[in-house]
Amino acid sequence: MDQNSLNDICVRQLSLSGVRDGETLAVLSRGDERGDFANAFLFAAQELGANTFHMRLPNSREASGAWAVGESGLAGNDVAVEALKQSDMLIDLTFLLFSKEQFAIQAADTRILTVVEPAPLLARLMPTRELRERVEVGAELLAKARTMRITSPGGTDVTYQLGVYPTMSEYGYTDTPGRWDHWPAAFVFTGGADDGVDGTIVLSPGDVLLPFNTYVQTPVTITIEHGFITDIRGGLDAELLSSYIASFNDPRGYGMSHVGWGLDERAHWHGLTQFPGGMGMELRSFYGNVMFSIGPNNELGGPNDTPCHFDIPMRGCSLYLDDEQIVRDGDITVPEMRPLDRR
Ligand code: FE
Repeated sequence: MDQNSLNDICVRQLSLSGVRDGETLAVLSRGDERGDFANAFLFAAQELGANTFHMRLPNSREASGAWAVGESGLAGNDVAVEALKQSDMLIDLTFLLFSKEQFAIQAADTRILTVVEPAPLLARLMPTRELRERVEVGAELLAKARTMRITSPGGTDVTYQLGVYPTMSEYGYTDTPGRWDHWPAAFVFTGGADDGVDGTIVLSPGDVLLPFNTYVQTPVTITIEHGFITDIRGGLDAELLSSYIASFNDPRGYGMSHVGWGLDERAHWHGLTQFPGGMGMELRSFYGNVMFSIGPNNELGGPNDTPCHFDIPMRGCSLYLDDEQIVRDGDITVPEMRPLDRR
């Protein structure tokens, strides 16, 4: 994408995010990564009358795996963290997600938007106020629920006890002090009680393994007892999943992490020309997917901060909150969460 178009979508993003005269917008990047994004956000902030600056961290000195969850590049860099805390909004081009520095910056009322996906995806899944409203309807329903049950034609039947952890929403922009979001995104999630997830999840062909960035080819049967995976069975996909988790040598890697559903009808399960790029935000967001996750729950305030983490968007599932059906066979049943032309 050329710089003018990138500037333009960043102006639209920062307008949605409420950036205005008198605010200070910080842009955080690392090494040589995403310099074009940094330039576009600096331009956009000035267009909207805000003060702005770019903080560039050195490259990571450690070779990173598929995801280096929790390793922020700000660790021990107190002066940098303090400067970011004083801004009104931080554009995170480095993927701070799950780091304690991110939590500290949010606690200072700085709102944070993570932007790491390819520019064409940012443009195609530009957030809207309408989509935000639908996501917030979902978050309200989820926050009230005591249990979540997920079923699928493949044999999934799992129940999460809710009410311990907060509900989170992601809709791709943020105008609320201290709130984090990720562009693009359209989904809601919470976590089950630490020992309160029981049942079976059967991954079906076409379900997505992030961060492998692969589609499941053969069914994988996952047994969950008291919030932890106790058995993983199936063919090659099961072996890959289970040996990857085992490689962390961390029993907490078998914990059950966040769970929820996606709402963006513009997001594709199949990708447009190849496996959807970047961090897989399109796959987390596609309409009617039910996504469960394995690993840490510290993002929700829980005790598990294992670096072993999977997000697994699934197709064709049904999801119930208490006894109310929310998703039926991959289609959202609550009218206020459906696109306007599908109500
Ligand atoms: Fe996750």
